[in-house]
Amino acid sequence: MNDICFPPQNALLSAEQALSRISETIQPLSGAEIVDLNRALGRTLAEDVFAAIDMPPQRNAAMDGYAFAAAGLSGEADFRLRMVGTAWAGKPFNGTLGLGECVRIFTGAVVPDSADSVVAQEQTRAEADQISFFAPCLFQKNIRPAGSDFKADELLLRAPKKLTPRDTGLLAAAGIAAVKVRRRVRIGFFSTGDELAPLGAELDVGQIYDSNRYLLAAMLDDPNFKVHDLGTVKDDPLALEATLIGAAANHDALVSTGGASVGDADYVKQVLEKCGQVNFWKLAIKPGKPLAFGKIGDCWYFGLPGNPVAVLVTYHKFVKPGLDCLLGALPRPPLQLRVRSDSQLRKVPGRSEYQRGILKQGENGELTVAAAGPQDSHQLKVASMANCFIVLDADCDGVSRGDWVLVEPFTLDL
Ligand code: AMP
Ligand code: MG
Repeated sequence: MNDICFPPQNALLSAEQALSRISETIQPLSGAEIVDLNRALGRTLAEDVFAAIDMPPQRNAAMDGYAFAAAGLSGEADFRLRMVGTAWAGKPFNGTLGLGECVRIFTGAVVPDSADSVVAQEQTRAEADQISFFAPCLFQKNIRPAGSDFKADELLLRAPKKLTPRDTGLLAAAGIAAVKVRRRVRIGFFSTGDELAPLGAELDVGQIYDSNRYLLAAMLDDPNFKVHDLGTVKDDPLALEATLIGAAANHDALVSTGGASVGDADYVKQVLEKCGQVNFWKLAIKPGKPLAFGKIGDCWYFGLPGNPVAVLVTYHKFVKPGLDCLLGALPRPPLQLRVRSDSQLRKVPGRSEYQRGILKQGENGELTVAAAGPQDSHQLKVASMANCFIVLDADCDGVSRGDWVLVEPFTLDL
């Protein structure tokens, strides 16, 4: 089955073409919910958030010291004032502060109306209520103006931002106890393969443990997702079809691994063609060439390759951006750093490659990258040692030591 949004499927697409097909086809899901701020970390804002108050609400002191009116003192060092009271954080000074007088003040305390300067206590000496000042008194020094962090009605956060710890702190500062966020995306995932054994089982000859489901579960561990582990499915087109049709009915997206290639036991593409629509299924990338992307009813489907490192690469490069489109969040291109390679890297022109690298910082602060080890797509241990992808263009025919390369660190979230 083909329709107008699903162009011909047989071409080998570049990573960029595949990504733009994904982001052009997937429309954001509708639906939002209100969550308490303490449950909001990482969630995607469904609407812009504005401040209802000035922060700070009143002028307050940036230092522990003394507050006074600088009139008549400006520029002078060495002057004395009489202390007439104390302003605490949370307990303002309610008396009157005249010329020649000062108030003991602590960080965060409201600055009395008639004061315009705060001098740090390290620059003073106190003898009973007589305070001597050694610093020139600078007008408005050490005073945080009302609204100097943000003002009432100011835009604080723009949807569809994903909330960071800084954002939840900011919202709390603004007194916002709950926010409207996009509803969670319902995602089902499963493995396919007759050779797969569950953890805890004794391995028969030819069997391997189903590592992809654990890798996928960990990568899908995101507060925006409601994830269901649908288990392991045999290399049987009827079983695959039943799983896809059954799960598509109550999920927004499905992700499977294995069976996406052209082997005799690879049924993903033919089953997807039968019960849904294939958008593309072959990419000019390494690892990750067979990747079926399409739709079953209203449910998006990513049929990833079976090799674990290909799962890692295709998840980060295609599935995650696709899920971000479903959330209505703008896919963010990964941060790429241009660094020198400490290793010689083998590569034949044709497909773009995401090699596994170790990015490190030398004593002089310079970043370099080295291959994390051999680059076969079953080698999860090397992937586990790596902390970045080394991104090599389709045209690249290898890298010599000292050449510049682009890397994408795994853990940076700016
Ligand atoms: P396939 O794409 O099904 O041809 O699988 C490619 C390779 O990945 C084969 O060596 C499979 O045994 C391996 N593989 C497939 N699924 C998994 C899985 N869930 N966990 C670990 N390895 C897998
Ligand atoms: Mg297989």
